[in-house]
Amino acid sequence: MKVYYVCECCDKVYAELEIEGEGYTQVSGLCAECLEEIGGGSDLFSISSQWFYN
Ligand SMILES: [Zn+2]
Repeated sequence: MKVYYVCECCDKVYAELEIEGEGYTQVSGLCAECLEEIGGGSDLFSISSQWFYN
């Protein structure tokens, strides 16, 4: 069985895993790029909410 890790942010398959069994399954998560963007994005978010409240 194949496990596809699909980034829920950019829809990219960022990892594949082969395990015993038939068929395939999808696991949604975040690729390294988006994880980084979101990690740095918390600053962006607070900046944009400041703009919002201004
Ligand atoms: Zn991504």
